[in-house]
Amino acid sequence: MRVAVIGGGPAGASCAALLAQHGVEVVLYEKETFPRPHVGESLQPATLELLRHHFGLDFSDAGYANKFGAVYVWGETREPWRVLFDERLEGALDGLDERGLLGGGFEQALQVDRASFDTRILEPAVELGVELVQREVTAAEAEGGLDADVVVDASGQRRLLGRAKGLVRTISDLQCTATYTYVTGAGGFPGVLGRHVQWVVTVPEGWAWFIPISADRTSIGVVNRGRKRLDEQRFREIIREQFPLEGATHEGIHFAPNWSFTSTAFAGDGWYLVGDAACFVDPILSGGVDLAVRSGLSAATAILSGDPATYERELRAQYKAYLRLVRYWYGNNRSVEGLFWEAHRQIPKHATATPLRAFVYLTTGRYAAERHLKVFQRWQEEEMFRRLGVDAHALREARSETD
Ligand SMILES: Cc1cc2nc3c(=O)[nH]c(=O)nc-3n(C[C@H](O)[C@H](O)[C@H](O)COP(=O)(O)OP(=O)(O)OC[C@H]3O[C@@H](n4cnc5c(N)ncnc54)[C@H](O)[C@@H]3O)c2cc1C
Repeated sequence: MRVAVIGGGPAGASCAALLAQHGVEVVLYEKETFPRPHVGESLQPATLELLRHHFGLDFSDAGYANKFGAVYVWGETREPWRVLFDERLEGALDGLDERGLLGGGFEQALQVDRASFDTRILEPAVELGVELVQREVTAAEAEGGLDADVVVDASGQRRLLGRAKGLVRTISDLQCTATYTYVTGAGGFPGVLGRHVQWVVTVPEGWAWFIPISADRTSIGVVNRGRKRLDEQRFREIIREQFPLEGATHEGIHFAPNWSFTSTAFAGDGWYLVGDAACFVDPILSGGVDLAVRSGLSAATAILSGDPATYERELRAQYKAYLRLVRYWYGNNRSVEGLFWEAHRQIPKHATATPLRAFVYLTTGRYAAERHLKVFQRWQEEEMFRRLGVDAHALREARSETD
């Protein structure tokens, strides 16, 4: 089998690497020279765990910022509140200094420079035998002009195949525009969590982020409702008011459309959509890279097992759950507890003790990662039986009777 992957971001690179790891011939087309810059730096713990699990990737030497959770100024008061990944940290924080925090073995994610992070995910794909072709693929090629049995569209917000096939649907109530920059030499917020969390703060136009991505570089942005770009002067004013930027050196300003959308189908006969090319939900919960990596890995699993239906069903369920949560978030100006209860309603009761932990379980990608691993392990077992001469189809049927 020969698979063509269009786009070498987190979705395309993860998909290509997993396929190549299991003996599939893969050609990956990428129009940019890596490392290339990309917005979207705040990651989730489950993403990193999946990359470690499948490819042994370890980012501890990369100099990225540790992320133990997020602090929000959102709701009826300007009092900051926080969500920490590790439940133990809630009780331990008061007695900890920075060394204790970093060395305490607490659950964490990273906040990264995407140019180098995305390159690090692409590297194992190439090492595993993926042929990397640096050129831009056209929509006509994506629809049938590539010499491949299966085409995976991982072209990000270009949505090459989704657009060509007329599958893209915008989510009209979540249309925003982001204005962002990078600064060097910004301090952190006071307290031990200082530069080790992401800050999200409401402002009159929408909300603003402060994401340290290394010891001294920070990503800062403002998301406003609608398609109109924020005036540069107003942007500078907002970030000066909200964040500790004294003495920092500012880089130029960038803009990004921040428009949520989905596709009417995520897979079909000989094609798959992964990552942003499949769907994108507003970045308020920092879930884009997680969905990209996981959908890339799940599409690869579906290609290996010849089971696009499971891919379609799982990704749609995850997308809908995330969309519900984001909508609830935007509509929720008062009760933080209400948001956690919304998360609690979405997942099986046995999986979590409290509404807050349900929220963490869902938004750190853990729930979806566990589901991906279950499907992947199933394929591995079936593959083992197939090699031993047992009919995989019969095995699947027998399984569904006992499930
Ligand atoms: C304002 C904003 C803030 C965000 N913040 C976060 C965040 O904090 N955390 C988070 O997890 N996510 C965040 N995201 C989302 C995140 O950036 C994306 O979800 C993620 O990058 C998707 O990965 P991907 O691999 O699908 O696409 P991409 O990373 O965009 O990769 C697509 C690749 O395809 C290539 N390509 C495109 N067209 C072609 C073609 N025709 N031929 C060949 N190659 C092609 C591109 O060059 C690119 O390298 C944010 C998004 C926005 C807009």
